[in-house]
Order: sequence, then structure tokens, then C-alpha cells
Amino acid sequence: MIKIENLNKAYKKNQVLKDINLELEKNKIIAILGPNGSGKTTLIKSILGLVIPQKGNIIFNGQSVIGEWEYRNKISYLPQIASFPENLKVSELIALVKDIRQQDVEDEHLIQYFKLDEELNKPLRNLSGGTRQKVNMVLAFMLDSPVIILDEPTVGLDPVAISRFKSLLKEEKAKGKLIIFTTHIMSLVQEIADEIIFLLEGDIYFQGSVEELISQNGSSKLESAITNLIEKSHA
Ligand code: ADP
Repeated sequence: MIKIENLNKAYKKNQVLKDINLELEKNKIIAILGPNGSGKTTLIKSILGLVIPQKGNIIFNGQSVIGEWEYRNKISYLPQIASFPENLKVSELIALVKDIRQQDVEDEHLIQYFKLDEELNKPLRNLSGGTRQKVNMVLAFMLDSPVIILDEPTVGLDPVAISRFKSLLKEEKAKGKLIIFTTHIMSLVQEIADEIIFLLEGDIYFQGSVEELISQNGSSKLESAITNLIEKSHA
């Protein structure tokens, strides 16, 4: 569904993505993992066309997307730091996104699901971090996009909201979607990811299932298997 070929991105002398090649298939939940600064957000933003690579290609459903924009209507994106227009009310923000996307939207069920009914008339600047993240969730899941990209989706969420988020992901995957997310929470990866892509200093060090990563890196726990993987790479 998404193919990435020889992708290179540098910010001045800082080579952030080094010749990345990937194939991301639908009907999967894919976790992009790696330490801070390893290039996860840059990779995601390249797929979204928010970062322009110096070299390489990104192919979405068979067509190159470099310089294109229509394909973005097929992607829902939850950014790591949502900079909302602070004076808007939650209901106004949802209406604004609906207006921009002009697609069928299923927001009412999600608003109730994340218990946001009481927040709809509040301006965004008055919301707590966790509530903002729930609004972010509604915006990401209300459009019926074949691809959903989530950058650290669980930050600030309470346990009930995390559990609801996990159920939602499984439902969306069952519809045949491709879901890509980043996180530092290994239990979440272990529970829901079909595939892991592990980035380190702009290179892919591992691509495969949780079980493969564990069996190749000599530990029964994902966290220690990843630590072993990083140590091997520095050896
Ligand atoms: P991660 O998401 O894995 O934490 P990022 O993709 O955000 O990593 O960042 C990778 C590297 O790129 C870091 O060294 C970061 O400082 C640098 N970087 C990211 N965005 C920019 C930017 N807009 N301008 C300059 N450097 C950037």
C-alpha cells in the first residue's frame, strides 16, 4: 500500500534518514520504534508530504506522491504535538476539520466513546493535556481513511481511554486499514502491533514481528530484546 524507496532526508549536515526502504501493507498495525531523535517523526512526516526528502521515492497505491497532495485525503494523522487554534471550541474544531475534508464523518459515537460530551463547548485552551489528546483521537478516527498514522497516540491518556483506543485500533484494522504508530510503551506494542520497524540513527535495524524481534535478540521481554538490539548495533 505504501512503498518507500531509498529515502534520504538531511537537515543541513544532520543526515536523519539514511536510504530507507520499506513496504507497508494494509490490514496491519505497524509500530515504528526507536530512541528519541532516531528519525521516526521525520519518516512519518515524509509519508505525509510535510517533509520533503532530498532523495528517494514514496509510492502510495502504486503512484509516486512526491509533490502530490490528493493522496493525503486517504490518510488520517494524529500529530505528536497538536497545535490547535486555542480560541476555538472543541465542537468548532471538529466542524472545521469536517469542512476541510468533505468526507463522511462518524464523530458522535467517538465523542461519547471518549466521554467528550461535556467538553464540546469549551475553548481548546482550557482543556487538560489528556482531554486534548482525546480530541486529537476523535479527529484522527472520525474520517474513514484507509491509512491512519498516529505519532505517540497514548501520551496523556488515562487507562480507560488507552483501553478504548486499543479496541478502536483493532476495529479499524479489521476493516482492512493500514495503521502506523510510534510509541515508547513496549507493552502496547507487544499487545497490538503486527509488525515492528526499529529505527536507529536514521537506519532500519529491524523489521518483523514482535516474536521475531524477541527470538533474534535473546530475551523473552520486548524491552530487553530492544536494549540488546541497540547494544549489538554499537558493538
Ligand atoms: P524521533 O521522532 O525519532 O524522535 P525526529 O524525526 O523528530 O526523531 O528527529 C530526528 C532528527 O532530526 C533529530 O536530530 C532532530 O533534531 C532533527 N530534526 C527534526 N526536525 C527538524 C527540523 N525541522 N529542522 C532541523 N532538524 C530537525
